[in-house]
Amino acid sequence: MHKKFDLIAIGGGSGGIATVNKAAQFGAKCALIESQALGGTCVNVGCVPKKLMWLASSTAATLSDATGYGFSPAAHHLDWDQLVAKRQAYIEKLHVAYANRLAKNQVELIQGKAHFLSPHLLQVGENTLEAPHIVIATGGKPYWPSITGAELGIDSNGFFALDNQPRSVAVVGAGYIAVELAGMLAGFGCETSLVFRHDSVLRNFDTLLSEKLMENYQQLGVRLVPHFTPTQVSRDANGKLHLSAQEQKIADLDTVIWAIGRTPHTSELNLAAANLTCAPNGSLIVDAYQNTTMPGIYAIGDVTGQKALTPVAIGAGRRLATRLFGGKVNSKLDYDNIPSVVFSHPPIGTTGMTEQEAREEYGDDLTIYTTSFTPMSQALLPHPLRTAMKLITVKSTDKVVGCHIIGDGADEMLQGFALAIKMGATKADFDNVVAIHPTSAEELVTLT
Ligand SMILES: Cc1cc2nc3c(=O)[nH]c(=O)nc-3n(C[C@H](O)[C@H](O)[C@H](O)COP(=O)(O)OP(=O)(O)OC[C@H]3O[C@@H](n4cnc5c(N)ncnc54)[C@H](O)[C@@H]3O)c2cc1C
Repeated sequence: MHKKFDLIAIGGGSGGIATVNKAAQFGAKCALIESQALGGTCVNVGCVPKKLMWLASSTAATLSDATGYGFSPAAHHLDWDQLVAKRQAYIEKLHVAYANRLAKNQVELIQGKAHFLSPHLLQVGENTLEAPHIVIATGGKPYWPSITGAELGIDSNGFFALDNQPRSVAVVGAGYIAVELAGMLAGFGCETSLVFRHDSVLRNFDTLLSEKLMENYQQLGVRLVPHFTPTQVSRDANGKLHLSAQEQKIADLDTVIWAIGRTPHTSELNLAAANLTCAPNGSLIVDAYQNTTMPGIYAIGDVTGQKALTPVAIGAGRRLATRLFGGKVNSKLDYDNIPSVVFSHPPIGTTGMTEQEAREEYGDDLTIYTTSFTPMSQALLPHPLRTAMKLITVKSTDKVVGCHIIGDGADEMLQGFALAIKMGATKADFDNVVAIHPTSAEELVTLT
């Protein structure tokens, strides 16, 4: 069968869904093609299950912290099966909600894998689909190392498919997904090693955050293994895994998790038929309006190699639909000052420039404010986790250009500060706000 639409999105994840729903609300006839579960990475193997697991592991911390307030120690046991079943039931509800929303907007959902036959013609199974506007929103997938025995490990998708709680785990990687998985697993009481190639994790973040996170992880009992580049994984007669590097070995593991990056999902699209080529890392290069080099073909979200976050994919998709069908020809996502949170223990919130980036741009025209303290939420606990904050301001304009927080509540604290910074807040504006006491957030408006 051959069908014609105004707009087709390839990929039913955060970006694709947002684009077609918005375009349909402007009256466009839209189709959404998805080869797996609706919702993509975020809903199925990303933000949503990750946050639920983080909440569960934060609950485990609260239960053990209760003794710090005088509660008698209580035995608690995590029923992993029940946690996973409840998590998946929640995700199932989201699938239904997404499908209903698409149906309400009269978007045709087409299950299958799409590839290009020509720039405006796609094949999905037996069917061909045509549209003047095609959005590639195929996301990314976990990157695997090419070393002997790599297949004995799992990736972040495999983490969400674990039937049993692992007892002894090595998480390999230094990015936010690696530190989140390691923090959660340690919170669940798993013996956890975090294994990375260089001397620190989160190397793209402000150094304050990576330093304080590593201090806090040591406090939590995460074994940090720097300067370790795996060369082999093997399984012994007892079923235990051994992760080897040149001169080091981490032995007796039951799970190895690869969290060493993600790669854009472009190889199956037959891009050559659309006269498109990828960057060497597989991503699709787009301009500020999400246009690829082929007129009428756009790319959004993780497949572009731009900031890989759900709200970024959604924001870019909605603005693209508004530009194409809503009459706003200049509609595009502003990629500056995008806030983000790392769901580590404790969490991290960050927006704007790191100190390193600010130094490159402003040289010595900077004033940096930092603080580090034990928050009240941790004060009565035997092994308190520290909070740290950094504000980066430009001396000559007083503008705040970076805000970095690690500590209890940082995840919920950041959004408001991100709004202020996006609006161009100065340090004087921060100083003019009356503090809310007693909170950790008040420190950000009382920094001297
Ligand atoms: C473990 C983890 C935790 C994360 N946590 C967060 C978080 O806390 N906050 C946050 O903002 N972001 C988080 N992210 C990132 C977030 O999930 C992504 O940025 C977001 O999902 C990107 O959306 P997308 O639409 O670009 O791609 P995706 O959501 O990946 O969707 C792409 C879809 O395209 C489909 N597809 C691919 N090829 C084809 C084809 N040829 N035909 C048909 N369908 C196809 C795929 O099956 C997939 O469903 C996390 C990611 C991971 C892996």
